[in-house]
Amino acid sequence: VPSRKPNETLSQFAIRVAWEYGHFWSPDNPEGSNISFNDLANLKPSDPVVVQAMISLAKMDSTAYTKLSLVHHGRPPSFDGDAEDPAMAAMVESDRCPIPDYLPPPGTECAFEDPNVQAVVEKMQKGTEEAIASGGWPNCHGAVNYHCMAIRVNPAGMNPKYAHLWKKIMQNVQKANCEIGLLMRFIGMDGKDLLTGETWTSNINSELTFVQSSSGWIGLAIVGQSESCGSKIWLKLLATYTGGNTDPVMEQQISALLLHEGGHNMGLMHTNGGIMNPSMTQGNPVGQWPPNDPSRPRLRSLYSGVPVPIPGGGTPNPNPNPVPDTLEKRVRDLEVRNIVNEVTMQWCVSEIRKLKGT
Ligand SMILES: [Zn+2]
Repeated sequence: VPSRKPNETLSQFAIRVAWEYGHFWSPDNPEGSNISFNDLANLKPSDPVVVQAMISLAKMDSTAYTKLSLVHHGRPPSFDGDAEDPAMAAMVESDRCPIPDYLPPPGTECAFEDPNVQAVVEKMQKGTEEAIASGGWPNCHGAVNYHCMAIRVNPAGMNPKYAHLWKKIMQNVQKANCEIGLLMRFIGMDGKDLLTGETWTSNINSELTFVQSSSGWIGLAIVGQSESCGSKIWLKLLATYTGGNTDPVMEQQISALLLHEGGHNMGLMHTNGGIMNPSMTQGNPVGQWPPNDPSRPRLRSLYSGVPVPIPGGGTPNPNPNPVPDTLEKRVRDLEVRNIVNEVTMQWCVSEIRKLKGT
């Protein structure tokens, strides 16, 4: 999570954050790829390339931007790309996943201050869209006709507040991924499957560790690039983040966080809304990818979408009805959702005004 440098104006900071999160390579910003890191200091908020980058950044996490627009302006967001807007200023300073939303083109020089983020981006730049088109770990670890990966969990440093929920959290994430066609196994430091107790003699594909501090992120993971049985990547969780104070909230939020970071390991990039939203959202179901999650089409293409059995019993949730595939229907559904959102926001605004007595 970038922090403002001493000599940086607010808009310069916002422009740099938009660059670090990949919004100069967004498909909505075709001129942006002509900009190099060294050009950023010379850009003005009114430059079209900056306006497009700010619009792209706001649209990538419209949940956070909508909330901030309500707080700062008492109205729904306008998505005007103003780098000096208070809601945008709050947006670039708020916590979110540091993995860029769009892949920097090969050869783009990226120098992130956080070495973990730099490692993630360098690996992403080596990959290509084609390389990750068929999902990771196909038929690995004795799986027949499906994908299977093993994550070794080093519990050292795990927050004791949710340690008693950890088994449920792993089960939730495993169940969600079994439903879309990937068996994700969690292996202890003693070499035993943490959910079934079976001895694991095969490779480890990802190392999960807890860190006690970060540059602002709560989770970080290598974005998988069609990983094989023999390759190894990693996933880190910030131990001080608990997601809440009650067991149900902690279980829900840490499950969603682990599903998000595991999703990066599985090759997923961010989406606007859903589990792969750049910042944490509330209310996601546990034990499944939300039925309308924008990652579902990508998950289906990477992992088939055909449920696989959960070791030791249990069955994945039945696959929800597929996303409607005609464009007209999707547009209609979006229009309905837009109107619902709009009306909800207007209601919220009037409630806020009542509370403020204006
Ligand atoms: Zn992320």
